[in-house]
Amino acid sequence: MSRPARPPAISVEDLVTHLRDLAANLWWCWNEEGWSVFQTLDPVEWRSTNHSPLGTLERVSRARLDALAHDPIFVKRVYDGLAARMAYLGERAWFQRGAAARLKGFKVAYFCSEFGLHESIQQYAGGLGILAGDHLKSASDLGIPLVAVGLAYRHGYYVQNLHRDGSTQVLLPDYDFHRFGVEDLHTSIACPIGSRLVTARILRMMVGRVPLYLLDTDLKANAPEDRRLTEGLYKGEPILRLRQQVLLGVGGVLALKALHEHPTVLHLNEGHAAFAALQRAIDLHAPGRPVAEAFEAVRNSTVFTTHTPVPAGHDRYDPAMVVHELHGLAERGGLSSAQLADLGRVNAGDVDESFCMTILALRLARRVNGVSALHGAVSREMWRDFYGVAAAKVPITSITNGVHAKTWIDPDAERFWRESIGLRLTKQAPTASGWRRAESADPERFWKMRATLRDRLVHFVRDRMALQRKRRGEGQAAVAATYSMLDEDILTIGFARRFATYKRAPLIFHDPERLARILSNGSRPAQLVFAGKAHPRDEGGQAYAQKIFAFARDPRFVDRVAFIEDYDMHVGRMLTSGCDVWLNTPVRPYEASGTSGMKPPLHGGLNLSILDGWWPEGSDGINGWRIGDTEAVDDPDLRDARDAESLYQLLEQSVVPQFYERDEAGLPQGWIARALRSAATIPLEFNSHRMVAQYTRRMYVPAHELRGS
Ligand SMILES: *Cc1c(COP(=O)(O)O)cnc(C)c1O
Repeated sequence: MSRPARPPAISVEDLVTHLRDLAANLWWCWNEEGWSVFQTLDPVEWRSTNHSPLGTLERVSRARLDALAHDPIFVKRVYDGLAARMAYLGERAWFQRGAAARLKGFKVAYFCSEFGLHESIQQYAGGLGILAGDHLKSASDLGIPLVAVGLAYRHGYYVQNLHRDGSTQVLLPDYDFHRFGVEDLHTSIACPIGSRLVTARILRMMVGRVPLYLLDTDLKANAPEDRRLTEGLYKGEPILRLRQQVLLGVGGVLALKALHEHPTVLHLNEGHAAFAALQRAIDLHAPGRPVAEAFEAVRNSTVFTTHTPVPAGHDRYDPAMVVHELHGLAERGGLSSAQLADLGRVNAGDVDESFCMTILALRLARRVNGVSALHGAVSREMWRDFYGVAAAKVPITSITNGVHAKTWIDPDAERFWRESIGLRLTKQAPTASGWRRAESADPERFWKMRATLRDRLVHFVRDRMALQRKRRGEGQAAVAATYSMLDEDILTIGFARRFATYKRAPLIFHDPERLARILSNGSRPAQLVFAGKAHPRDEGGQAYAQKIFAFARDPRFVDRVAFIEDYDMHVGRMLTSGCDVWLNTPVRPYEASGTSGMKPPLHGGLNLSILDGWWPEGSDGINGWRIGDTEAVDDPDLRDARDAESLYQLLEQSVVPQFYERDEAGLPQGWIARALRSAATIPLEFNSHRMVAQYTRRMYVPAHELRGS
């Protein structure tokens, strides 16, 4: 019998060219046909580079490339990946199928100080960046004409290592942007900051159909202090922070002009970018006309999303500093120093009032929203002085955050839902109604899937713990001991967040003895996995990390509590897929939304959370648990004690017993019913396709239509 013809082998050079091409658009990071090619290319380097396609390609051996160039199955996968991407990019998505035709020239410019797109592209600190990354991916999937603007940070946020005493060691690596798949557009801008013109080159990352433009000032042409502007995220010094924000806002608008991008709508994702609206107004301002007209036009076409009710989360500057850094811009618009300073104040002329970026954004955006229903209400209360009306009349609405399902769902879980309930996530439309069928999934198969994910998490934690101990120079016995930590079959509770103090990471240790009894309760044990970074200047947050690190070594908790260093998107994905329960204990109402709790339900995980952020909207009483109540308690000690008591009672009386209440087949039917309910109710609503569709309908399109009128 003749063998079927094999496709001819290709040259190594051609293979490398195709692989580079596949890596050049971040489409690979949320499509298995993309990333899995690089995983196969070299599984060891794939891991060692934290899943970087170009990093893996740099390190793979010539012999391996040679073998793969002669492997028709691999070559076909590369071609199939490129073909799938081409089909995706050419598809008519939700937006093109809908109202697009009548919106001439519609284009959104989305400004944000951080973007969390993938673990190998460390350009994010936390939730804001993750949300922005998910926003771009959904905008691409839905076909929204959107371009994004940010900064390219030489050392990202920071890498967290813990010393032997649990204190934080801040490492600042130098990233090679080329490895991120960025393209240097060989275009630069001159951004006025103070009396200088700072040169910034423009880099571009393609996120599916969405271009993300990043400014980089680390250039020889600039003075050393200006090269530092794109050194890292959220540095502490106010002057550096302010200048970074001038670069992002003013420089970002100049960059769009240099690239001939003409957005009709400006979306300020958080106040950091508010100078973009100011720059747009100055650009619109016609000499001889009142500048107020230009402000009004910009207001009509600007959307502002505020992200935090924590006062320290709103940047405030000395007005003199703002005037100094922006005097050139102000002069062009005919604004006096006093007028410029007043743009960031509630009370014009109040020289004692600082310059607040949020107020500037509120002033220059007609459409403003918070990121959950509760946060919308809190924001209306918080900013009513600015608007000078009763809270109920404050024009701040809310659009609740969501997560990009294809980014956060584990491939095995996705296969499970596809096979058992026919779920298709690839559909480029905002509704995810297929999730409704989750409750009809087979309980036994579902429980097997959960066991697989938990098992993988436990092994991941052990590996990480071993690496961490080795790095700290701990003895062989300590390293070996990590391989008997945790248990594959027991109730696993996860907590991973930025270690801002309001998130109260150590709350579950409020009464260590009581927790120890819960975790090591004979036949019904439980275990905890933590991860999280505190800001390098947040001593309180770092002390929390140290506290948990110490508990993880406490003989009462040994083998039952783990702390994984350097929380990132990969750690997040492992934890949110593998944990049975996702713990969230913020001080209400400081968690504006939170998104990590939206990730476990994609895998049938259950939330155990304070009624804060998105949870009041997501919780139905069955699909997870509510800690505490909604009554405000002012005394922090009393408040923590009450919330901890509620948490312990839930664990002792509901969470642990239900997990271990098994039928003859060994299945916890009550638990499974809750877990399937979580999958049936939460991903349906709390996903970024729904979120971006709402931004489009309620904010972008009306802003586009109102522009210039
Ligand atoms: C999802 C995610 C976040 C957002 O989490 P919240 O604490 O719920 O806001 C932050 N960081 C990483 C790495 C994430 O994956």
